[in-house]
Order: sequence, then C-alpha cells, then structure tokens
Amino acid sequence: MASTTGVEKLVIIGSGPAGWTAAIYAARANLSPLSIVGVPKQDPGPVLPGGQLMLTTEVENYPGFEHGVMGPEMMGKFQAQAERFGTRIMGDDVVRCDFSKRPFELHTQSNGIVRAHAVIIATGATANWIGLPNEMRLATMGGGVSACAVCDGALPVFRNQPLAVVGGGDTAMEEASYLTKFASTVYVIHRRDSFRASKIMQERFLSRPNAKVLWNKVVVDVLGQDKISGVRLKDTVTGEESTLDVKGLFVAIGHTPATRFLKGSGIELDDAGYVALRTRSSKTNIEGVFAGGDVADSTYRQAVTAAGMGCQAALDAERWLAATGVH
Ligand code: NAP
Repeated sequence: MASTTGVEKLVIIGSGPAGWTAAIYAARANLSPLSIVGVPKQDPGPVLPGGQLMLTTEVENYPGFEHGVMGPEMMGKFQAQAERFGTRIMGDDVVRCDFSKRPFELHTQSNGIVRAHAVIIATGATANWIGLPNEMRLATMGGGVSACAVCDGALPVFRNQPLAVVGGGDTAMEEASYLTKFASTVYVIHRRDSFRASKIMQERFLSRPNAKVLWNKVVVDVLGQDKISGVRLKDTVTGEESTLDVKGLFVAIGHTPATRFLKGSGIELDDAGYVALRTRSSKTNIEGVFAGGDVADSTYRQAVTAAGMGCQAALDAERWLAATGVH
C-alpha cells in the first residue's frame, strides 16, 4: 500500500529484528512508515520476510522470553506490534536505489518506483552455507544444522554430544570455543592445514581438552533423516572419504551482507561489503539514509543488537525528518 501523496516519509527496507523495531519506533512517532519486507523465496535469501530468524528454531537469548520462543513466532510478534501502530507493509524486493534524487527513488521488483524522503536499510546478512541439499534441509527443520552456535549451541539436544564446526576463521574459533562448554567433543573441520583465525582465538579453542581439529577436510554430505547423525568428509589432499558421527553441525564460513541492491547507489560500504556507518550513529554517508542491524554489523549479529540498531535508525530518521521540515 503506497502513500496517497506519492512520496513516503520513511521507507524501511527489510523485516528482521532491526527492520521491525525501526518500524515500531517510527510508527509510534506518527511517521506512518512503509516497510518493504521482501518476498518468500525457495532458497532463503537475505530479504526473506522476517530475516534470518525464520531459519532458526528456538531463540533462548532474547530478553523477555524466559522460556524461549520460536524464531518465526518472534518475528510474527514484532510484525504485529509494528502494524498495531500503523506500519504499512509491501511484500516486494527493492532491486535498485537512486539516492542522488530527492525524494529518493527505490526501484522494486513488482511495485515500480517507491519515492521516499528518508530510508532505513535493514536488510540483514545471510550466513554462508556449504551448499549441500541435506545441509539446508536439516537447517530449516531444526535438525541439528545451524549457522549460529551462540544462538543454538546451548540447546539441550547438543549437551554432552559430539559436535562439528566447519571453517577456519575467527567465527569458527569463537563458535567452537563456545561449544566446548556443552559438547563432549568439538571437531573443527577445515579445508586447509592452517587456520586464518587470529592466534589468540585459535589458542582459546585449542587449549580446551575436548577440542579436536580435522585438517584438510571438507563436508560432502550431511547424514540423518530428521536429526543429523553424522557428516561425510572428504580429504582435500588424498581424496579419501570418511564418516564422522556428530549430533550437531555448525557452519561458520562467513556471512554475506544483503547489499547487492545498493550497488551504484552511492552508499558507502566497508571492505567486507557491510554498510559503513558514522561512529555511534545509524547515519550512512548519504543524508536521510540510515541503516541498522546485521547489514551494518559484522561483529555482534544478534537479534537483540539488531533490534537496538533498528531503534537507533528510527530515532535518527525521525530527528532528521523533523530538522528538514518533513512532517
Ligand atoms: P572468514 O574470516 O572469511 O573465514 C571463513 C572461513 O571459512 C575460512 O577459514 C575459509 O577457509 C572457510 N570457508 C569459506 N568458504 C568455505 C567453504 N565453502 N567450505 C569450507 N570452508 C570454507 O569469516 P569469519 O570467520 O566469519 O570472520 C569474518 C570477520 O569477522 C573476520 O574479519 C574476523 O576476524 C571477524 N571476526 C572477529 C571475531 C573476534 O575478534 N571476536 C569473531 C568473529 C569474527 P579458508 O581459510 O581456506 O579461506
């Protein structure tokens, strides 16, 4: 549902914790925001409505849910709260932005051009997956395959079980170290014979008594029907295949921020492709364009930190609109 004036005061792109929190704050400030929430996709992409939490099962670390909450249910609650205060919703993908014009022009897949005085980018990031059919199947059904140990690792199903982490960077070391607190053994599976992770992070993991490294190995299949029972490994040097019994697989091979639609828009990105923000603010390099959540944060990547950043973006947008005389 587009604005009757033809120009939106504020458009929020993305519908994870950052996008919905921005919408709640902006709607309560009477900005009547339009949220462009993405469209459901076969292959869950970054602009999946509801974001990465739609791929999560139980969320136990979001304050206020003492008994935990399912990721999709939580996003449903966020959306309902945003709608209650007047957020309008468009199920579409933004494919290109023109921030050189004022009002800004957002080119959508199906609804033409949406014009807006201010924009909040909250499109998130996606965890990179190995790309195996059984990996995705078990990840979407809560079958013990995850891309976030901090989110899922403490679940009872993983306690005192052998678990595996794939990757050799700082995230893999961090996730693997975290898992050593719960697991019987944590195997880090890495495709080369040395880690790219910083020494200190490596040592933190390797010093744990239940830490094991499988060098020169890639996962070629994930085994198990409803729950993972093991992984099939291939040695990258000898080509030899083997099976490793594990009850959990944590994929930690990097994240990709959802910023492709910003190509050519003039928005400054950092070296890793995340939206670059001004210090202690949600402001981008373009006046009137703000960002929050995982699209602008490669460090924390938690639902609660994304929600906080969404709040900051809405407050910054509200102040900016007031200062520029848009009511
Ligand atoms: P990363 O540094 O890009 O590491 C990704 C790892 O995954 C690499 O070891 C890579 O192997 C492996 N990999 C990539 N694609 C793969 C595939 N298809 N199959 C198997 N392995 C694959 O990503 P990251 O660890 O998420 O870190 C991202 C950034 O955040 C880094 O700058 C990192 O320092 C930072 N970070 C910092 C902290 C901290 O300081 N507390 C914590 C987490 C992350 P190769 O090594 O062979 O390329």
